[in-house]
Amino acid sequence: MNTKKDNNLMDKIVSLAKRRGFVFPGSEIYGGLSNSYDYGPLGVELKRNIEQLWWDRFVHRRDDMVGVDAAVIMNPKVWEASGHLENFTDPLIECKKCHSRYRDSDFYEPNDLTNLRKDLQKQPPKSKPLSAGFMNEVAARMNEILEKRISEKGCIKCNNKNPKDFTEERQFNLMLRAHLGPTEEKANKVYFRPEIAQAMFVNFKLIQETMRKKLPFGIASQGKSFRNEITPGNFIFRTREFNLMEFEYFIEEKDWEKWFEYWRKEMKEWLTKDLGVNYKKVHEVEISPEERAHYSKRTIDFEYEYPFGQKELYGLAYRTDFDLKNHFKDAPYRDPDTGKEFFPHVIEPTFGIDRSVLVTLLEAYHEDKDRVVLKLPPKLAPYKAAVFPLLANKPELVKLARKIYDDLRQKFTVAWDDRGNIGKRYYSQDEIGTPFCITVDFESLEKEDVTVRVRDTAKQERIPIKKLSETLNSKLER
Ligand SMILES: [Zn+2]
Repeated sequence: MNTKKDNNLMDKIVSLAKRRGFVFPGSEIYGGLSNSYDYGPLGVELKRNIEQLWWDRFVHRRDDMVGVDAAVIMNPKVWEASGHLENFTDPLIECKKCHSRYRDSDFYEPNDLTNLRKDLQKQPPKSKPLSAGFMNEVAARMNEILEKRISEKGCIKCNNKNPKDFTEERQFNLMLRAHLGPTEEKANKVYFRPEIAQAMFVNFKLIQETMRKKLPFGIASQGKSFRNEITPGNFIFRTREFNLMEFEYFIEEKDWEKWFEYWRKEMKEWLTKDLGVNYKKVHEVEISPEERAHYSKRTIDFEYEYPFGQKELYGLAYRTDFDLKNHFKDAPYRDPDTGKEFFPHVIEPTFGIDRSVLVTLLEAYHEDKDRVVLKLPPKLAPYKAAVFPLLANKPELVKLARKIYDDLRQKFTVAWDDRGNIGKRYYSQDEIGTPFCITVDFESLEKEDVTVRVRDTAKQERIPIKKLSETLNSKLER
């Protein structure tokens, strides 16, 4: 893969996103806030279209799924029961001088660990393989390399190059903390949710009973999560405040493999059919037991070939009955038909919304000579159509175009443009992915029809004004 070209692609997406109102750097007039972003007018349309399409596919079109929209800040006991207070940590080292924290991987050179592996083959540790002594010797040799790299590179913030002035690796909790109420005492300490899943677990009984749901069924949610990530980056790929959509699908334990496979296929369908992603760029990666979250018995990551490397896009996890058991202890689910009591098991498909937006933009971006075309699936496009009068200084054209624009706007998101010439307007709409451009010309005044130009083919056809809404509808359905 050509990295230089790919980095260019990322730069182009970031620049287009800002220039055309998709994504802005957060708090920009105050110098920004590291790794925070705001969705601009077109970005919020794209994001909401993705969220709505997801909700349609996984909630509205099914009879085994219901939704919930819960509070971001929950009783801290939730995080105790879920294991997050104890386990949601990252191993980090800290500069004692300025208290900046790093992953050890921030210091290693790309080949350091490969070389160490070769080294270990040449000069194996003296202890028996995989014994505690063996692991200690390996750790000591890794540490040697780390200290060397620290003394070369130093702390990014204060340039401290003395390895002795760094702490050993320690576990740091990734949850974002706050105090709820007027006093900053311990009793008021709360956490911003690091995932949206727990809302679906703690509301399980209320939802199951009020909606009279029987297994298998799912609870879906969309919303914000917060993680005090040490190394966010790559535009909206990893931010400390991010948007998730996911569902918990409750099943009997014996069926977990069947449902895992079922949802794996559904996630692929969503990516290819709804987001228009080329699946050749997606890799389903089996996560090893050591790397899995503390609650999971099987996890697949859906990784995508971003311009900055192959990294996580979505996740699919089998969470067993871990969460419901911890929350409901002596009050299990009772099967309405058989009266059998047990804790349901859970399959959890997770979809990052911001990553969905990023991947949709990357996949849609096309260049045709000096023309940029965002080939968004029409359902996702911020504007479904744009309306132009051929000439801005002919009142009769403007009047008719304005009427068409006002009518269509009741049903679709529609843009208006009367600046410059037609070519420039097409160019401008192509760049933001508007699938159809409608031009009112002199012929329109006599024949009551307009030119509709299609983004992806640049082909034009005449459509009666009366049939515009109907035609757009049928084209958007495809
Ligand atoms: Zn420092």
